[in-house]
Amino acid sequence: MSSRRAILRAWPQAAAPPILGRAVAFPDRTIFPAPDAQLDPSLLLHEVAHVHQFQHVTGFPALYLWENLRCGYQANRFEREDDA
Ligand SMILES: [Zn+2]
Repeated sequence: MSSRRAILRAWPQAAAPPILGRAVAFPDRTIFPAPDAQLDPSLLLHEVAHVHQFQHVTGFPALYLWENLRCGYQANRFEREDDA
């Protein structure tokens, strides 16, 4: 599937985990913003780009984590690509 559609959901009030960024995307195209995140188009487009990466980059979750360990969150190429 190559759709860029995504589903925006909220964490249950008591179950929100700590999130490294302002939101997190999952391979099922679900996006969960951090409870205190300001929802804006740039955030949603960024997370939809992660959904796209899940769909088109083989091994994306492992590669993403490796980039975070190797380069840090800010320099992670998948984060930079999303903001391009
Ligand atoms: Zn991101």
